Amino acid sequence: MSQVLVLAEHVGGTLSSGSAELLAAAAQLGDPVAVIVTAPGSGAALASQLGALGAVTVFVAEVADADSILITPQVAALQAAVAASGDVCAVILGNSLDSREAGARLAVRIDGAYQGDAVGIGSGAGGITVTQQAFGGAFTVTASAARGIPVISLRAHSIEGAAPAAAAKVVTLNLGADASATTAVTARHEQTSASERPSLQTADIVVSGGRGLGSKEKFVLVEQLADALGAAVGASRAAVDAGYVEHNMQVGQTGVTVSPNLYIAVGISGAIQHRAGMQSAKTIVAINKDADSPIFDVADFGVVGDLFTVVPQLIDAVNARKR
Ligand SMILES: Cc1cc2nc3c(=O)[nH]c(=O)nc-3n(C[C@H](O)[C@H](O)[C@H](O)COP(=O)(O)OP(=O)(O)OC[C@H]3O[C@@H](n4cnc5c(N)ncnc54)[C@H](O)[C@@H]3O)c2cc1C
Repeated sequence: MSQVLVLAEHVGGTLSSGSAELLAAAAQLGDPVAVIVTAPGSGAALASQLGALGAVTVFVAEVADADSILITPQVAALQAAVAASGDVCAVILGNSLDSREAGARLAVRIDGAYQGDAVGIGSGAGGITVTQQAFGGAFTVTASAARGIPVISLRAHSIEGAAPAAAAKVVTLNLGADASATTAVTARHEQTSASERPSLQTADIVVSGGRGLGSKEKFVLVEQLADALGAAVGASRAAVDAGYVEHNMQVGQTGVTVSPNLYIAVGISGAIQHRAGMQSAKTIVAINKDADSPIFDVADFGVVGDLFTVVPQLIDAVNARKR
C-alpha cells in the first residue's frame, strides 16, 4: 500500500490533540506514516506515542533549537520523508497556521498540489478526493489534484474513527543545513487566559454568542453555558465589535474557522460571514427569538425563544445531568 505522510505537531513533547485524527485520516488512504521535528533526545518517546496512534513508520528529525525555528525544519523533514519513502500518495497536515504554511511550502518544493482547509477526504476513480467549502461555505466542493502529490490541510473533527495501534518503525532524518533558521522566534508572550477552557479551534464543543446578548456583562451567560458543557467560547463579529469579547474569539470569515462536533449559536442571526466559519460543525444548535433568522437554515436543532429564558434552563439541565 502507498504511504500517507502526516506532520505531527507537538508542544514540548506533548502531541497536539489532532494527531490521532490525522493518522486515522491517513489510514483511510494508505499506510499512515508520521513525520516529527523535535529537540534532540526526545524523538523516541514521541515516536512511540505516534505508533500507539497508528503510525506504522515515524520519520524523526531531531533539530537543535527546534522550538525557536519557524516552519523551515518541518518543511525540510516532510520533503526528506517524501524522498525517503519513495511511494507517497498524499501528505496530510492539521489546519493550524504552522501546518498550513508548512503544507503550502512543501507543495512548492515537491511540485505537489496543496489543498487547504479540507473538511473531508476520500478516494475514487480519479484518485484521492478532498472535500472543501467554497464561497463562504455556500458550496461544498470535491476536488482531486490534477497532478503531483496532494498535500492536504484537514480541519479538526473532520474524520471519525482511529487507526489501529502499530509498533512504529523509527527512521532518523538528518536535515543538515536545510533545517537552519531563516526566521527564528526571539521571544514569546503567552496570552493569559482567565479560564481552563479548551482552545476554540480544536474544541469538541463551541458555544458562541452574538449581538443578541446585549452587553459584555450579559455575555457571561454564554460563558456559563460553555463551562457547563466543557466547551470553548466563540462570538459573532457584532459581539466582538460591541466589545463583549476579544477579537481572537470571533468565528467566521474574518475570524476563526471551527469545526466542532457541537456548535451552539446563542443570539446570532447567522449571516453568511459567520456561517463560513462554523457550518462544517457536525451538529448545530441555534437559540434565537426570531424564527426567520438565517441561522436556522443551517441548524440541526433550533430553539425559538428568548435566550435569557432558554439558556439558564439549559445550563440547569446540563448541570442536573452531571449530578
Ligand atoms: C467583510 C465582512 C466580514 C465579516 N466577517 C464576519 C465574521 O468573521 N464573523 C461574523 O460573525 N460576522 C462577520 N461579519 C459580520 C456579519 O455580516 C454580521 O453582521 C454579524 O455576523 C452579525 O452578528 P450577530 O448575528 O451577532 O448580530 P445580528 O445580526 O444583529 O443578530 C443578532 C441576533 O440575535 C437575536 N436576538 C436578539 N435578542 C435576542 C434574545 N433576547 N433572545 C434570542 N435571540 C435574540 C436576533 O433575533 C438576531 O437574530 C462580516 C461582515 C463583512 C462585511
